[in-house]
Amino acid sequence: MTRILVVEDEQHLADGLRFNLEAEGYEVQVAETGEATLQLLETETAFDVVVMDVMLPGIDGFEVMTAMRQSGQFVPTLMLTARGQAEDVLRGFAAGADDYLAKPFDLSILMARIKGLLRRGEWVRASAQTLPQISNGRQDAYTFGEKSVDFGQLELRVRDQVFPLTLMEANLLRYLIRHEGQTVSRKSMLAQVWGLHEDTDTRAIDNFMVRLRRYIEDDPKNPRHLLTVRALGYRFVANPAAGGRSK
Ligand code: CA
Repeated sequence: MTRILVVEDEQHLADGLRFNLEAEGYEVQVAETGEATLQLLETETAFDVVVMDVMLPGIDGFEVMTAMRQSGQFVPTLMLTARGQAEDVLRGFAAGADDYLAKPFDLSILMARIKGLLRRGEWVRASAQTLPQISNGRQDAYTFGEKSVDFGQLELRVRDQVFPLTLMEANLLRYLIRHEGQTVSRKSMLAQVWGLHEDTDTRAIDNFMVRLRRYIEDDPKNPRHLLTVRALGYRFVANPAAGGRSK
């Protein structure tokens, strides 16, 4: 049975979500605080999707998602934002969310998003079609050195280690790879990866880069693939030994 964890402190909303999700045939567990969520996830890990309200008393949803990912939990997560502000959305994606809905939301849209997360592989392939193709070989995979990214499976392999990626991590990586050897600005990443054109705080992108470096770089403090270009943005270099810097 598909299990969904609903993290929501407003009880009427939590009750409504439980009722409707159970009516769809899902098994539902509700946690009302960030602390309760983290405790629950320590003992029960078999959730298929997490629906996470970000505005919680105490530890908020952003911190819960960050803690989940730091402890190696990669349950697809849909965040519910109160304001739908670009900063909140980006902060949530940087914390590891896969999708978001702004409150108040339409129940049928929530159901569709949850089904989307459950078919994550299919979903990422569909979203991939909106991004230009990567040129080396298969559209849904890319190999550089001892590392490879499988965009269909949302996995990054580094030698014998496998890191699950969120959709947003995968899309950001795809964008950087497509511009291999070129400097891309934070603004262009915001526009092309997230579709955000407004005057958004771009610092959340740096959180993504920190995390991607942790996966990809042998020494994240001295990156060789994901380079910071001061005052401009970032540059992906597939093969540093071949003089990728000189491009
Ligand atoms: Ca709340």
